[in-house]
Amino acid sequence: MAQIDTEREKKEILQAYKDLLKVAKHAKKDAATKKRIRKAFDIAVEAHKNDRRKSGEPYIFHPIAVARICAEEIGLGATSIICALLHDTVEDTDITIEEVEKLFGKKEALIIDGLTKISGVVDNNVSLQAENFRKVLLTLSEDVRVILIKIADRLHNMRTIDSMRRDKQLKIASETLFLYAPLAHRLGLHSIKSELEDLSFKCQEPEAFKELVSKLKKTQEVRERFITKFSLPIKKGLEEKGFKFEIKGRPKSIYSIWNKMNKKNIPFEEVYDLFAIRIIIDTEKEENEKSDCWQVYSVVTDYYQPNIDRLRDWISAPKTNGYESLQTTVMSPTGKWVEVQIRTKRMDDIAEKGFAAHWKYKEGGVESQFDRWINQVRELLESTDTNALDLIDDFKMNLFTDEIYVFTPNGDMKNLPTGASALDFAFAVHTQVGITCLGAKVNNKLVPLSYQLNSGDQVEILTSNKQKPKEDWLNFVQTQKAKSRIKSALKDEKRIVAEEGKIILEKEFKKLKISYHNISLKELEAYYKVSSTLDLYYKIAINDIDLNHLKSFVVKKGVLRPKQTIQKRVKSYFGVSKSLKETPKKEVLVIGDNMEKLDYKLANCCNPIPGDEVYGFITVTEGIKIHKTSCPNTVQLMSNYAYRVIKAQWIDEQNIDFLTGLKIVGFDDVGVVNNITQVISNELHVNMRSLSFDSHDGIFEGRVMVFVKDTSHLTNLIKNLTKVKGVRNVDRINN
Ligand code: MN
Repeated sequence: MAQIDTEREKKEILQAYKDLLKVAKHAKKDAATKKRIRKAFDIAVEAHKNDRRKSGEPYIFHPIAVARICAEEIGLGATSIICALLHDTVEDTDITIEEVEKLFGKKEALIIDGLTKISGVVDNNVSLQAENFRKVLLTLSEDVRVILIKIADRLHNMRTIDSMRRDKQLKIASETLFLYAPLAHRLGLHSIKSELEDLSFKCQEPEAFKELVSKLKKTQEVRERFITKFSLPIKKGLEEKGFKFEIKGRPKSIYSIWNKMNKKNIPFEEVYDLFAIRIIIDTEKEENEKSDCWQVYSVVTDYYQPNIDRLRDWISAPKTNGYESLQTTVMSPTGKWVEVQIRTKRMDDIAEKGFAAHWKYKEGGVESQFDRWINQVRELLESTDTNALDLIDDFKMNLFTDEIYVFTPNGDMKNLPTGASALDFAFAVHTQVGITCLGAKVNNKLVPLSYQLNSGDQVEILTSNKQKPKEDWLNFVQTQKAKSRIKSALKDEKRIVAEEGKIILEKEFKKLKISYHNISLKELEAYYKVSSTLDLYYKIAINDIDLNHLKSFVVKKGVLRPKQTIQKRVKSYFGVSKSLKETPKKEVLVIGDNMEKLDYKLANCCNPIPGDEVYGFITVTEGIKIHKTSCPNTVQLMSNYAYRVIKAQWIDEQNIDFLTGLKIVGFDDVGVVNNITQVISNELHVNMRSLSFDSHDGIFEGRVMVFVKDTSHLTNLIKNLTKVKGVRNVDRINN
């Protein structure tokens, strides 16, 4: 191992810190702030003093570099610089969040805590961590600096990725393309987004990357000559009007060229928009920005013919990420279309560095487009019904899409993703408008809900209180808001239907004479291959589940033993209800196809009495209610809720006997069988139907089928049988 020159390293570290301070001029306004940054630096140096990066250099260079990106390339302030310096300390060293809070404050502790949590998420399998991802996004909506610092962290890791192991490189690169580049794009960090893409691409396809770099280099001179020639008349025109300006030929990123080649299946030579011309003007006053930019447009189009279809005014209607620019595509003398971007210095700064640059221009924070986006994210996250994996999809989609601008009948503007439908617009207006949306008028023409909107459309939504969200609505909405609201409305709807399924199931259980509470719904869900109790009830209600299988399920589970078919009124008997016991009458009510004694209440509307022709109705909250067939409510109940109606009949109690089986085990003894039969026939009203005994090595096992009146009757019999000499056990069986 080579000798490490610690003195020299110390000097280099200090130099890196000084360079950081230089680019962070805007952040260290006062001595106290400067001191705090220095404190963070000292703590980080001490905490990481024994750590080295894969490249071998002291670890502290990494947090310094991240802090520098935050200050220089994103334009963040002192708090972010402090947090960037400390971003790896809590995770990798002995420093705790509590210490950070004590040393720096709550805000700093929160941000670093967020950073520590994210690295726990992204360093693992994304799909497994979907729920954590959601938490990360929540921190994003709490303090966006967490994500900004994380992006800076990722950018530095991508810049120094060469010293990593190849498999790790690939993992980090794809994660960067999957998550960080779109996030950077969404946050308006244009140059960081392009660099992240190019670095990832270089890592994934080193050969293709190299080839494109060399092709760009070879054609560079031609391109520059073209740009100079093209700019010449514009320059002259602008100078005549007294503009202060700069004209640049802005090359496309390598990754976007590569994407274009793949998408259109064309060679490098046929990608015509390898660059755009960018005109950046100095404006004295912010209120003149817009008219100045249009004046420049006027100059450009004096010399070159514009393609009207490709005019984009992102000054009047900035993108959600804060992007402002006036863009046009004009025909050059060589017969090539050239994109021209016109913007002020302020706009260019925001376009390159993102929304953080806003702060530089408007102190105290503005209710920017960006805040609106953050609010959207927060709203989405707070609708807890959204499945975490769906959330990632929705979120990612929302990161990538471009936007259109549409208007309400009052002329209010709404930003929507490209491809948004009239229904998306309805939800953007208000959830209730979305849910009850029938159709729309776009530019005064009637269109269906699925109609795809275009920029500039004026949209009026037609609603009806009778309208309800449909499953297929999900096929033509783009926005997260519409998606999550439709899903939750469908779920509410499903819950109402499911309520009926629950009643059907309970009824079915009663039919099988099983207490509903003895059934494990989890097992039943598994049996019917549904993912939730809600699904189970819902599918029962819409007849998607065949309850004929229910019996084999409960039999298999051992909750119910197979029913006997020997006799019509064979019963396995589960207790007599209170109300039955309280009924002094000789006649009892039996309910259901199997004519069993169930708990019931007499309906107040028709007050049935024994002897009346009656039926049972399963209510939602009050169990079974008994109505007279002649009850005035019968027609309504039977027609609307036929599935909740069950048979009921008054029967003379004396006529009901239930057949049940007993298993008697004991020591084989002289006369034991005789004693048993004696007890049975002596018991009041018990009739024996069959009897069989087996004896084996001194142990006998007897099976007796008897008719009993009810469970107390049966319990009594069992008690008496147990008293017989030699009998060890008496159990109830069904055959
Ligand atoms: Mn780091």
